[in-house]
Amino acid sequence: MSDDHCTRCGACCAAFRVDFHRSELASAMPGGVPDALTVPVTGALMRMRGTDEAPSRCVALSGEIGTRVACSIYAGRPSPCRDFAPYAALGIGEDACDRARRRHGLPPLRAES
Ligand code: SF4
Ligand code: SF4
Repeated sequence: MSDDHCTRCGACCAAFRVDFHRSELASAMPGGVPDALTVPVTGALMRMRGTDEAPSRCVALSGEIGTRVACSIYAGRPSPCRDFAPYAALGIGEDACDRARRRHGLPPLRAES
């Protein structure tokens, strides 16, 4: 992965529940989210394992939050992850990104840039 703001953070992967439709699973489409890393929420909805635990941390996240992290399924991550704070990697955050970073004692991106 490239060296950007998100690879030095990872806070949002350890702050919020990550839910998505089961049609995004690898068992439903090539390159999808590995089924084993998810738990069912309803018949249609899946959740990334670990994101509703306390403390929250997605099982696909490796590394140390605020230092160096990676998503082990980056190419096949679910849509909420693809859609979250799309310019944060470039240093342009938004409210949800700020909230996640605050939970981990990190300043808003704009304060870093
Ligand atoms: S989107 Fe925000 S909270 Fe998530 S990894 Fe990037 S900088 Fe951190
Ligand atoms: S799937 Fe990847 S990007 Fe999404 S929450 Fe888990 S570690 Fe973060």
